[in-house]
Amino acid sequence: MPLSNSLHTRGTVYGTLLNHRDALAALGDQVHAAPYKAPPKAPVLYIKPHNTWVSPGAAVVVPADAPELEMGATLGLVIGRTACRANVADALSFVAGYVVMNDISVPHAAVYRPSMRFKCRDGFCPMGPVVPASATINPDALTITVAIDGTVVHRSSTAGLIRPVAQLLADVTEFMTLHPGDVLAVGVAAGAPRARAGQQVTIAIEGIGELEHTLVAKTDVTTATTPAQPVFSLRGKTARVAYSGAIHTATPHATGVQLADGRVLAEADVEWLPPFEAGTVIALGLNYADHVKELSKELTVTTQDEPLAFLKSASALIGHRASTRRPNGVAFMHYECELAVVIGSTAKNVKREDAMAHVAGYTVANDYSIRDYLENYYRPNLRVKNRDGCTVLGPWFVPASEVPDPHNLTLRTLVNGVETQHGNTTGLISDIPALIEYLSGFMTLQPGDVILTGTPDGVVNVNAGDEVVTEIDGIGRLINTLVGDEIFNV
Ligand code: CA
Repeated sequence: MPLSNSLHTRGTVYGTLLNHRDALAALGDQVHAAPYKAPPKAPVLYIKPHNTWVSPGAAVVVPADAPELEMGATLGLVIGRTACRANVADALSFVAGYVVMNDISVPHAAVYRPSMRFKCRDGFCPMGPVVPASATINPDALTITVAIDGTVVHRSSTAGLIRPVAQLLADVTEFMTLHPGDVLAVGVAAGAPRARAGQQVTIAIEGIGELEHTLVAKTDVTTATTPAQPVFSLRGKTARVAYSGAIHTATPHATGVQLADGRVLAEADVEWLPPFEAGTVIALGLNYADHVKELSKELTVTTQDEPLAFLKSASALIGHRASTRRPNGVAFMHYECELAVVIGSTAKNVKREDAMAHVAGYTVANDYSIRDYLENYYRPNLRVKNRDGCTVLGPWFVPASEVPDPHNLTLRTLVNGVETQHGNTTGLISDIPALIEYLSGFMTLQPGDVILTGTPDGVVNVNAGDEVVTEIDGIGRLINTLVGDEIFNV
């Protein structure tokens, strides 16, 4: 992968929480109390979405409701080749370069289920410069300093990592493949300094470089986006399929699918991909009242004053008729049938009454979870929600013009032909305009971004060999088959 001085990637930027010994120690006895109950068992990861990425020198806007922001200085690993189940011994060979990062947050007390509003605002992830990996750089012994207006106010070292870089890569790629262009931040030390509008921030990593940017006050000019422009490229009902060595856009045909070149093929003769290239994937937890009731016994925190939104990576997506791995030995893996809303035009500070104009269309999602891996740090953990192949999307992108009322659609899941889940989008706690108003209030949504709106009750365990059909009337019927570990040579 070519490396330049600034970072241009279509990949995913992941952060690692509580990977510094002092950051975990700062939690004290809380790690043994509710909601955490035990120290983290696996890497606790989160995603910094596209809207947060900015280059060195950027002016980062301090939101009006947060006078000070936390400067989360960290080292980012730039992935150079596909890393799947990397061994500790050769994990560093997957790293093409290193980048200086500022993982900015609105200060918040708990790491349990923090709101996306704290970490996903526009501009909250300045990155750069990038330097190529080399034998002279030991990523486990780098001093990191943060200076505010030229005075060093914080100092840490990657020597304090709980999981050193190679171990972190091995533990992350055990459940989630990292792709070229992805960036994995190794973790922020305790006591992240705070800065406010008007100040200059300099993060220096010894042997890597310096990242400088400023913080500016929120100006009041960006009260609304420019009028919605339909820039999302899909117009009609379409799928994306691989056939005969190429990727095609396909349209429905009475006997299967039709490619743009005229060929008509049976549904089973093509390889179905997610129906479009997804940008930021936002998922909603607990967005159907009946599902909240279903989970009420195990919910640690039941009060909710805003939608429970979290992020997934597009790399977790697979298409219709694909196979999803069910690890041997887990006790509870379940599907989630969800209406997926596809954003069609840039949305920032959009009001409820204007929100539907930003919807390009819909598709069906099956958002698998493996509850065995649920830990109460930054819940839900990516180990539960971002595993390879665990988010099924498709078969069709259906334009909004073909869906008269997205808030009255029947959803159902059938396991081996037996209906196990049944609901209707009338049951959404936060409806589509509410979600767009909420999300666009703190982050810019872009064409191709996807909102998975949550699942109704009726989630049950599924096993290797099961065929799982998630279906939404008027949108599509999405088929997936669960397979065991043996397929994957482990
Ligand atoms: Ca879900």
